[in-house]
Amino acid sequence: MDWQRAPAPAAPESKGTPITEPLRIARDQHPVSRSNISPGTLKVLYSLRDAGHEAYMVGGGVRDLLAGLRPKDFDVATSAHPEEVKRLFRSCRLVGRRFLIAHVRMGDEIIEVTTFRGPITDSHERDETGRILSDNIYGTLESDAFRRDFTINALYYDIRDFAIVDFAGGMDDMRLGRLRLIGDPELRYREDPVRMLRAVRIANKLRFALADDTAAPIRHLSPLLREIPPARLFDEVLKIFLSRDAWANLEGLRRHGLFIHLLPLTDEALEADDPVATALLRHALENTAARLAADQPVTPAFLFAAMLWPAYAKRIELLVRKQGHAPPVAQAQAAEEVVAHQQLRIAIPKRFSLPMREIWSLQPRFDNRRGARAKRLLAHPRFRAAYDFLVLRGQAGEPGAAELAHWWAQAQGGEPPPPPAPLPPTAADEAPASPAKRRRRRGGRRRRKPSGPEGGE
Ligand code: ATP
Ligand code: MG
Repeated sequence: MDWQRAPAPAAPESKGTPITEPLRIARDQHPVSRSNISPGTLKVLYSLRDAGHEAYMVGGGVRDLLAGLRPKDFDVATSAHPEEVKRLFRSCRLVGRRFLIAHVRMGDEIIEVTTFRGPITDSHERDETGRILSDNIYGTLESDAFRRDFTINALYYDIRDFAIVDFAGGMDDMRLGRLRLIGDPELRYREDPVRMLRAVRIANKLRFALADDTAAPIRHLSPLLREIPPARLFDEVLKIFLSRDAWANLEGLRRHGLFIHLLPLTDEALEADDPVATALLRHALENTAARLAADQPVTPAFLFAAMLWPAYAKRIELLVRKQGHAPPVAQAQAAEEVVAHQQLRIAIPKRFSLPMREIWSLQPRFDNRRGARAKRLLAHPRFRAAYDFLVLRGQAGEPGAAELAHWWAQAQGGEPPPPPAPLPPTAADEAPASPAKRRRRRGGRRRRKPSGPEGGE
């Protein structure tokens, strides 16, 4: 072990004596620097400390900084109870039903502050699959650590002396490039099946490998995803696909048998090995990644329009060819059916499903290039998104789409769309992930935490 033990600062004392002696990595033994922590997070940590509470930065913030990445957001764990947190900060909202979380606003940042969770006991209400339903007991730093999902997500940055506190071997896993669940993997996945999705996403984000025992149970437990409320899955799916690792995440989810439970129609299209459908999804996800890298906006409406397009197009064809429906009728019915089927798994809010359907319904109108109709289409409020989707169809090699996109580019008086960029090799073509391949990404603009309920069990 490279990390050295350092004594814990004397006051304030943690409630309860730790059963497991944690490793403390002193500030001069780790690279997490205050200059890389957001000003709002530091303010929250200092305020909690000055009010006599324990306060730590934890989770993705510590993990990503240790990996040399820019954290998406910062989470704080504290001994202060939610009402005490609320009293300390002017702009603070308590959210969550099963477990109260404080969202503290500092300028344009929202810092999630959670009170130490108590240990899992038999008194926790569970459903028949083992999923935890009630959870409202507070605990100590130690009990909080063992409630977290992966060892590298249970590293605590102590605002008193800037040391990192490690109860679960996270520093070793960090060094080894390994993502490992804390405790018995099967039990932990049963407590909260979303951890299976987090495993794939976080491993890809860090270019880490899943520990064997963390990976092994996923396939046979994957059906447990069906127990998760569709609204929570929507949030998770956005984190998975509105990401720079979107395509690797899709491949990872398919490899572990998870994808079919999220987007069954998309999985079916990919399983059919239709090269155009595969290319469309690949380009859509790679375009998303490129837009995120360039700090351009991305929308779930476009993402889902692409994900469900192969199923939608296939359904239209069937309704026209086999059942003799007129194309506009077939389009409306196909959209209805595909969306209804998808909503059973993932609750796509109307503010995204409606524009998604509009992107679809505008596609046939690109065939009509004459006079007034073309002008009307150009003036349509959703023209740009629909046009981008046409470009995507062209990139994917849909017959005639590239040529149409070219015509509409000129009709807008702009540059024709670029020829499809060569796609990077898939994960399957690459060597197994190693920590040496981690990217460095630091500084730049910070993104705000989305307003929906985050993580948690
Ligand atoms: P990112 O912010 O990059 O998505 P993250 O690990 O910070 O990754 P959050 O959803 O912000 O993810 O969660 C913050 C922390 O809360 C995690 O690092 C982990 O310690 C804990 N956590 C989140 N979800 C779970 C879960 N399902 N089970 C146990 N602990 C969790
Ligand atoms: Mg986070």
